[in-house]
Amino acid sequence: MTAPQYMAIARKWRPQTFDEVVGQDHITRTLTNAIKSGRIHHAFLFIGSRGIGKTTTARILAKALNCTSSDAPTISPCNTCDNCVSISAGNNIDVIEIDGASNNGVDDIRNIRDNIRMVPTSGRYKIYIIDEVHQLSPGAFNALLKTLEEPPSHGIFILATTEAHKIPATIISRCQRYDFRRVVVSDIVSLLKKILAKEKIKATDEALYAIARIAEGGVRDAQSILDELITYCEKQITFEDVFEVLGLVDWQYFHALCDAMLAGDVARQLEIIEEVVSAGKDLSQFVEDILRYYRNLLVCLTVGSSEMLLRLPQSEMDEMRKRAKRFSVVKLIRLVEQFAELVNGFDSQIAQRTALETLLIQLTRVDVEVSLDTVMEKLLLLGKGGIASNVQAVPESPPPNPPDAGPHKKAAAAPAPQPPPQSEPEKLSLGREEAVWREVVNRAGTRNAALGIHLGRVHPLGVDTDGVLTLAFEPGAEKAWSYFQKSKNRGLLEQMLQEETTNAQSVFFLEKTVPDNTAASEQATPTPKQDGEKPEAGDRYRRASKDPAVAVVLNEFRGKIVEIHDPTENAE
Ligand SMILES: [Zn+2]
Repeated sequence: MTAPQYMAIARKWRPQTFDEVVGQDHITRTLTNAIKSGRIHHAFLFIGSRGIGKTTTARILAKALNCTSSDAPTISPCNTCDNCVSISAGNNIDVIEIDGASNNGVDDIRNIRDNIRMVPTSGRYKIYIIDEVHQLSPGAFNALLKTLEEPPSHGIFILATTEAHKIPATIISRCQRYDFRRVVVSDIVSLLKKILAKEKIKATDEALYAIARIAEGGVRDAQSILDELITYCEKQITFEDVFEVLGLVDWQYFHALCDAMLAGDVARQLEIIEEVVSAGKDLSQFVEDILRYYRNLLVCLTVGSSEMLLRLPQSEMDEMRKRAKRFSVVKLIRLVEQFAELVNGFDSQIAQRTALETLLIQLTRVDVEVSLDTVMEKLLLLGKGGIASNVQAVPESPPPNPPDAGPHKKAAAAPAPQPPPQSEPEKLSLGREEAVWREVVNRAGTRNAALGIHLGRVHPLGVDTDGVLTLAFEPGAEKAWSYFQKSKNRGLLEQMLQEETTNAQSVFFLEKTVPDNTAASEQATPTPKQDGEKPEAGDRYRRASKDPAVAVVLNEFRGKIVEIHDPTENAE
């Protein structure tokens, strides 16, 4: 007997029975049913990412088929007979493990074909486990196919691959296919807990969740990380240890980076990158962790009880919440999207997962049909009180009123000047409506993001005595146009106007262009109203703006219609 040796956790705790395989119940159930019913297929195809139990399950299956402690294949191999022991050790004479990457030629497979015909020496079956089978050459696949078509009754193939799409359909169709899943975080955590209990080592839940998250569904990776931590920590594993041992960037850096972003401090952010790089940290890992960090902030901000989702130490949860509150959902979605894009080149789980989560949050929380870029652009403009600056500058306009400092400040993550509160309803008066209008758009944005955004493409022409506010669309504002075609949206705007202004009660939208566009004059003039019928307020603006003479004047002086005096009305 050799002295007890240090044995890697992954090997030491490798599942030896179907029951011990973690997170692949759908597979072990099917396999055990097949064994119980005696319907053993001649070719199995195990598909799934690395380190989630394909080879382990293949060995358990081989033991189940060849265990000598029972008269027939059994769902619970004894793990003590010669066959079980040698299969577990990988040196059983009838169970041959082949690495498809290095034995991928025609001759390799022909050898297998010849050997599999020979009756097994000690077991019931001769079993070939071919790992990374997608690496076989086309010729080798052909040779394999011939064997799969006419297998000897004692021959069994277990093919394992991480890349099923590289396997010819003819091969796949001859196999029973099993898709292994990445293991969910909670399953990995309970596995790690079991191992730690037996190893008599303590660890905080946060540390275990951190390990499970970093392992991204891979049991073997999680076990290797735990292994490293046990060597390092000896008695108690903490959240901080996980970062320390894995050489990850200290958690505090992410808070610092976030604070610098909130403060608009670019220099500080670059300093942090410099510190991370000069500490020799892996930058691609760092980017993934930034992504994870902002994803966590997004979860904090959008999910009420985020503790269960994030599994961070309480002090960290507090820090995250504090920062999450300073962002808007839209800003965080934007950040997550952009960091995910940066990470995407690394083809990681976290990138795919955050992309999905972000989309869901976006679809749930941001009720707009426009692209996120447009949303951000508009919201940032709103934050700077500049949304109406899309309008042609009108020299005689008073300086823009500062935007509402109320709940709206949430929308702009970039540091925006903090203006004094101003929320009294105002008169949308002609001549200075630009400033008031900007205010209206700002408030609309805080009530309803979509309304605010679309209003940003609309410009006021004036309010008449009936309280009708006439509005024109910017050129190309197709989305705003279709948004306001819906009476619901129009109603939303009107309701807001009634509350926020003293005079505007309803709206009238001019057709799709602003009046300083000469193209307007080329469009068909509206049908004149019948004599005796008083033209509606909006109609008057529309007609005026389309009058060729007026259009020329507007264009020439970059002006706009401020007021319409109708001599017939005055005469009444
Ligand atoms: Zn056995």
